[in-house]
Formats: sequence, structure tokens, C-alpha cells
Amino acid sequence: MLKPPHPVARLAYALSLWLNPNNHALDGGRASSAMERESVAEIAGMFGWRTHLGHLCGGGTMANLEGLWVSGRLNPGKRIIASEQAHYTHRRISDVLQLTFATIPCDPLARMDVNVLETELKRGEIGTVVVTMGTTATGSVDPLPDIISLQDKYGFRIHADAAYGGYFILADNLNSMTREAFDCLSRVDSIAIDPHKHGLQPYGCGCILFRDPRVGTLYKHDSPYTYFTSSELHLGEISLECSRAGAAAVALWATQKLMPLVAGGEFAVGLQKSRRAALSLFEKLESDSRFRTAFVPELDIVIWAPVAESSSKTSSLCREHFDRAAARDLHLAIATLPSGLLDSHWPEIEWDQDQIACLRSCLMKPEHIDWIERIWQIIDEVAASSNQVS
Ligand SMILES: *Cc1c(COP(=O)(O)O)cnc(C)c1O
Repeated sequence: MLKPPHPVARLAYALSLWLNPNNHALDGGRASSAMERESVAEIAGMFGWRTHLGHLCGGGTMANLEGLWVSGRLNPGKRIIASEQAHYTHRRISDVLQLTFATIPCDPLARMDVNVLETELKRGEIGTVVVTMGTTATGSVDPLPDIISLQDKYGFRIHADAAYGGYFILADNLNSMTREAFDCLSRVDSIAIDPHKHGLQPYGCGCILFRDPRVGTLYKHDSPYTYFTSSELHLGEISLECSRAGAAAVALWATQKLMPLVAGGEFAVGLQKSRRAALSLFEKLESDSRFRTAFVPELDIVIWAPVAESSSKTSSLCREHFDRAAARDLHLAIATLPSGLLDSHWPEIEWDQDQIACLRSCLMKPEHIDWIERIWQIIDEVAASSNQVS
């Protein structure tokens, strides 16, 4: 998952380093704190929130940590639930926060299985459901409309992990199921999003947003070190981290000034291109008998495997393709998925192990669309050469 920052982000970041502002207290970064407020409000606005509480942080893991920390403070002792395909750090974060964590299996589209979720809700003691808006492995979007219906019935907080997929709310070419999920994102309680993934920022830029600004009171502290010289709210008063790079806020602000977070704008068009690239690669793979595909990409991530008779042979063939593609400068990824996620898609495979390694490609850069033919040519060459071997 690599996407170079936009040139204006690089420039703004570098220029601010003459001062090296610290967005902890307003005194440490007057301009950069104002820029942080403005750009975070623009991200909240993208999700349809006119009021919010939020700030930038080190990345998606920190943003999720704050989301779950607030959840735990509001629902002490209750469980955190996420899908089996949720980011692996949710379990660890829950561990750090000493909250019990449990996973829900996925449906054949790699989204949280809401029937199993309801069974779990009936057992009780669920404080928060983490809804992944674009899983890291497959880009699947959990069925938020159904989860919101369950929230009305059972009552729990919803934390949306939109670290990877959040910006796709701006794309005009999502399938209807994915669109419906994004359209009710404004109803969740908190959202984590990573400007350093799809927001064209250098690493070190995550963002946490809360719908109800009153959760700010949970952060109250009385530090002897930080002098808050104005009565205005300091970002350091609503953040778990203390010192934070003002440069990250300056870079984000400049990028969003150049490319506002609006549907139909240049930024949105870039995401749409990534999605078109993923669909285009998916179609090529799907119509080629040498490959197996399973999930129609919901965002810009494609999963596939070369055809082999068993899950173990598929996995080793995937690793071979991965190496051979890398030798030709095409850098793919491997996603190891549970057999339960793929056995209904690939019934002809002999499941001799309970996991299967698949090939994965994140077509994150808008330029990927122009490279699809070349990418396909390499995938084709790799398949042709390894078929001779096997
Ligand atoms: C990347 C990612 C994270 C972790 O974010 P970092 O910025 O790497 O800390 C969490 N959740 C999802 C869905 C992600 O894709």
C-alpha cells in the first residue's frame, strides 16, 4: 500500500519544518493548529458532520485506539466486536485498553456476517461494534445499514474503521451495496481515517473523528508541564498523544485547499480511477481460465489465485507468482485468507489446509489505470512461465 504524497503536501510539509510547529498547545503552532482544525472539519464535512470533535494523529492505529478508548470509557467492561477481516490491531488495542475483544466471521463477500452478529448481540455485553469500511486484505465494506438497524434494536456504539476506505465516500462509481454503506456513515459514533493512505499525505497522518463533541470531557487532564495560555480549546486537550507534528496539518491543509474533498473534484476523480483500474484488472483475471477470482472489488483491491487442485498447491503457486512478478518489477502482495471465506467460491479446490495464500493488488495510484495493460502483460507472462514448471 504505497501512494506517494502529493507534491503540494511534500512542499508544505518541508516549508513548515523551518519552524517545526508542535500541534499540542496553540502556543506551539498557532497557524498549524488553525490549519488542523480547518482540515479536520473538512474531513468531518465529507462524512456529513457539521459538528464533531476530532484531530490528527500518528496513523490509523492511533485513531482506532482513541475511538476504542472513548468507547471503553463510555461502556466500561463491555465487549468490543469486529469482523474476522478487521485490521489485526483491533485485538491488540483492546488488549492494551483491557477490553474483551471478539470476532464475527465473514459472509462470502468478506463482510461481517450480520446474522452471527445478532446472535452475539443477544448474548449481551457488547459495548462497541467496529465496522470496517474497506478491509485491508480485500477492500470489503461491512454492511453498515444492517448494523445500524441492529444498533436501533440492541444499543451499542459503532466505531467505523475507515482508515483505508473512508475517502471512497467521494467516488461516483461504487456498486450500490457499497454506496448504501457509505451513505449511512454519518450515523456512526466515531470514524478513523488515514490521510496517509488515500489522502495523498506522508506517513504520520491519521485522523479520529467523534460525532458527539461532548466526548472531549473524557480527555480532561491537569498537566503541570503544558501551559494553556488561552481559553480556546487546545488540540492537546482532546488528544491521547502529546506532541504532534504541525507539519502534518500544514501538508494536509495545503492538499485539501488545492484539491477539496468534494464529489466530482480532482481528488474524487483520482479515487474513481483507482477503482476503475481494479475493476479492469478483475475482469481480465475473471475471464482467464488460468486464474480464480472471488470478490468483485468493492474499492480498489483485487484478490486472485492461479488455478491449482488444492489449497496448499494454490498457496505455493501464489508465492511463486509473487516472486516471479517481483523479478519483473511488478510488486504484488500476498493475502492469507481463511478457507471459510473462499470455499463457497472455489468448491472444486481440495481444502487440505485451513488457510490459503492469494495474490493481492492495491491499485491505489490514479496512474494505475494507465498501466493496466502492462500489469496484465506481466501477470500473463508469469502465469505462462510457471505453468511450464508445474
Ligand atoms: C492501515 C489500516 C489500519 C492501521 O493504520 P496505520 O495507519 O497503518 O496505523 C487500520 N485499519 C485499517 C482498515 C487499515 O487499512
